[in-house]
Amino acid sequence: MVMTVPGDTATPTGTDRQRVLYVGGLGRSGSTLLEKLLNELPGTLSVGETLHLWERGIRDHERCGCGEDFDVCPQWAAIGAEAYGDWASVDVDRMIDLRWALDRSRRLPQIFRGLRSGEQSADERWYVEQLRTVLLAAASTAPRDPDGNAPEVILESSKHLSTAAMLATDPNLDVRVVHLVRDPRGVAYSWTKVVDRPEADGSIMPTYSPARTAMRWVTDNLGFETLARLGVPMLRVRYEDLLADPVGTLRSIGALADLDVGPLDFIDGNEIHLTQPMHSIAGNPMRFGGDRMTLRLDDAWRSKLDPSARRLVTAMCAPVLRRYGYPLR
Ligand SMILES: [Zn+2]
Repeated sequence: MVMTVPGDTATPTGTDRQRVLYVGGLGRSGSTLLEKLLNELPGTLSVGETLHLWERGIRDHERCGCGEDFDVCPQWAAIGAEAYGDWASVDVDRMIDLRWALDRSRRLPQIFRGLRSGEQSADERWYVEQLRTVLLAAASTAPRDPDGNAPEVILESSKHLSTAAMLATDPNLDVRVVHLVRDPRGVAYSWTKVVDRPEADGSIMPTYSPARTAMRWVTDNLGFETLARLGVPMLRVRYEDLLADPVGTLRSIGALADLDVGPLDFIDGNEIHLTQPMHSIAGNPMRFGGDRMTLRLDDAWRSKLDPSARRLVTAMCAPVLRRYGYPLR
């Protein structure tokens, strides 16, 4: 794991900014598992992927992580009431248009420039303002702990680098990023599999070729490194290390978020006992699982990924693979 120290371009720190712990990285890297574990830490609240809130939640009423449809989930009703009076009052079509126009990997050069200079278009400002409004409303409407405290840290797991960078432009938010990486051969294999989306009946998650995944793995990870160099506090976590040492990994993430993670007694070896409800938007179907989980490293790719695809992914990712401590063979 690599701790990145904020550079001289860091935004000023302030105690009144809302701390946001952002889980970033390529999909199929174990982010849903990490999100579930982080949601158990005292002082945290997971909202899931707010990038998808507008389309999948407000417009399409897909299921929340709690199992209820979005429009009947009491937590999201409370967030909508706090943020806008009612979800019907937000211009959701404009938000969806801007999400597809602005919050894109191909716009990263402009987004990074805005992060450096503080200059943004009116549309960019409005877009980030809506994300922030939802995150702040989630914090203020969250159930209080036994001492009456609101959650200190909002967990955002949109994963996309562009969303992390846009949130980091907001001076009201104190964004810290867990940069989650996984062996790209495992990621590539996972993106070739067909996975149902139970929150949207009859639909499936997209699939990608190993070559396309390998390219995204390299550009995405290098992009997160750039974001760290721009001063956003960041901790790189390998999926494989999370599985091998969940307690140590969660303690490191707690340190990144200035969070006292407590005894972590919901983890007993490989056995996890989840106790906190999770009202997360979008994400892997795994978020609908029960309250008990056994941690098991998913390395099916070792036997199931086609040897030629494995060689291709290894070759394409080689320089970064080595830096992240993954074997070339
Ligand atoms: Zn819910």
